[in-house]
Parts: sequence; C-alpha cells; structure tokens
Amino acid sequence: MPSKINHIGIAVPDIAVAAKFYTEALGLTLGGVEEVASQKVKVAFLPIGEVRLELIQPTSPDSPVAKFLEKNGGPGIHHIAYEVADVAGEVDRMKVAGVRMVDETPRPGAHSTQIAFVHPKASGGVLTELVQEMGHS
Ligand code: ZN
Repeated sequence: MPSKINHIGIAVPDIAVAAKFYTEALGLTLGGVEEVASQKVKVAFLPIGEVRLELIQPTSPDSPVAKFLEKNGGPGIHHIAYEVADVAGEVDRMKVAGVRMVDETPRPGAHSTQIAFVHPKASGGVLTELVQEMGHS
C-alpha cells in the first residue's frame, strides 16, 4: 500500500522554459536535470514539502512523453507517483488482483528509484506510477 505521494509528473516541451513559472512565480528551487534513457526523457525535480514536482521533457519524438504532449495539445499533468516500500511486491499484488500494468516488472527510474507504471485504463485515466526509493549509497 502506498505511504505517500512521491511526486507529480508534468510533461513539458522544454524544462528550462517551464521551470521559470515554478522558480520565478512560485519561488521553488529547481534540482538538477537527469536523463532517463529508458523512457527517452530528461527530468528535473522541484521539491515542495514531502512531495516533488517532476518536469519531464522528451528527448526523442518517439518518447511516450512526446506522444502525450501531442495528444494533450501541450504541457500538462502526466502522472501521479505513489511511494511504496516494495515496488516488486506491489506489482505482483496488483497483477494478481487483475490490474493492468504498463510495466509488468519494475525498472530503474530517476534518482536511484525502481518504478512501475499502472495502465491508465486501470486507474481511471490517470497515469499512475509506483516508486520505491532505493536509498543513496
Ligand atoms: Zn515520475
């Protein structure tokens, strides 16, 4: 069972442009930009309390996030990520319960995490990510 919201993913065409609102208008602090090659995206996190906003920029036209931007007609909320203690266990539990998954097994996410996406058809149209913090060593 998730313990909290880990982050909210926001798809943007350009992190540097999008970050201006969050840093200048809202006054948040932008963390470093990291490339997640497996998803063909660059991500940047803006911490706020226990939650982070995750700006996601596609690095290739065939990135799923590029397709989202096209379908959505521009930037917007892409997914909500729930923090779990055991992502592999949660994926197994959900599969047994008949929940359709995008990721049948967890894969590496940004910032030393393991992640798995639930299919939006199984979660009321909201793309849902499960994330396990693997700790920094
Ligand atoms: Zn995410």
